[in-house]
Amino acid sequence: MRLTALTGAAALAAMFLAGPALAAPAPNNNCRNTADFGRWLDGFKREAVAQGIKPQTVAAVSPYLTFDPAIIRRDRGQAVFQQSFLQFSDRMVAPYRIQGGGMLLKRYADIFKRIDAQWGIPGPVLVAFWGLESDFGRTTGNFNTFTALATLAYDCRRSEFFRTQLFDALRIVERGDLSIEEMTKGDWAGEVGAMQFTASDYYKHAVDFDGDGRRDLVRSTPDTLASAANFLASFGWTKGEPWLQEVRVPANMPWEEADLTIQHPRSQWVAWGVRPAYGSLPSDDMPASLLLPMGRLGPAFLAYNNFKAFLGWNSAFVYSTTVAYYATRLSGAPPVGRGNGQVTVLQTPQIIELQQLLARHGYEIGTIDGKLGSSMRQAIKQAQLKFGLPADSYPTVELIERLRAQSIGSR
Ligand code: CA
Repeated sequence: MRLTALTGAAALAAMFLAGPALAAPAPNNNCRNTADFGRWLDGFKREAVAQGIKPQTVAAVSPYLTFDPAIIRRDRGQAVFQQSFLQFSDRMVAPYRIQGGGMLLKRYADIFKRIDAQWGIPGPVLVAFWGLESDFGRTTGNFNTFTALATLAYDCRRSEFFRTQLFDALRIVERGDLSIEEMTKGDWAGEVGAMQFTASDYYKHAVDFDGDGRRDLVRSTPDTLASAANFLASFGWTKGEPWLQEVRVPANMPWEEADLTIQHPRSQWVAWGVRPAYGSLPSDDMPASLLLPMGRLGPAFLAYNNFKAFLGWNSAFVYSTTVAYYATRLSGAPPVGRGNGQVTVLQTPQIIELQQLLARHGYEIGTIDGKLGSSMRQAIKQAQLKFGLPADSYPTVELIERLRAQSIGSR
């Protein structure tokens, strides 16, 4: 969902999240802005009207369709650094968020009950997103959404993506969901409200749940919570099924099976020695993936079909896992275990070196960006299998050394 780092107190901790959500393309970092902004804006307005947006709407928003260099600096200055799942979740799932989330579950119990009946999404899942996206609506940003989107749509890095967002922001106003004034406190990349919806997700997935006829994700808590449920349900959600469950893994098992693209029935995981960290783990046919966010020595979870909705909201793996884990805590799960051993978390320069080595060895890793994305995990797994290392898809110094040695040997 959100394209940018968390705001406010969470900003520093979460900067590494800055990678775009599923919907946003990778930025073209080598481009330059050469067009005149005024001329660009004239063209944008003409196209808005051609797309059926009323000229009055375009005129009313016009004063805010300006270029703000501060937004460009934010977009280009996004730092990338790695945090492990435990580093991130320790900070994000802080005691105050468990307590605050629990209080909100009680305060809005009736709304959660109605939402559960309609979409099947449990309250703790919605509260978890509410807490991590905006600290329950406290930090939604301080940028005018139209200025932010106009600036990023003009900018050459991801013009098409943000141009679409800007059209949809105009449609939100035209539909009467929000006034122009209500769209002045968003995040710098155009996300709106306590759930930090992008304008396009807002236009497509927001619902009116308090019955006043407006889809109001800025002032209405019922609309905010129900819209989040409606958005999550769009990725597929089976009512009554779990989304994530902490487990303990044995010292040895076929680690290459621990992969979000691989599912086995719970009975198979039990047969491989996986045990519940709490509660029960029935040996039945419910499909699940084994999720090892820090490799085989770190915390372990079974991710069920409903976990896909978390990845749909934000494809950043550590973030999705943390929200899903937070939701289990709000449902009564104990704090996550620390794993079976010491996990050495690689620093960004080491990740970059590993990406370069993997690329040199012919593995498909996408952009060399210092991020531990899904294609890199797959490449790590293939290399681990080749070297006969435990293939848990997690980067290690040992793998870097093995790849380095082979590079030298092959020259
Ligand atoms: Ca409403």
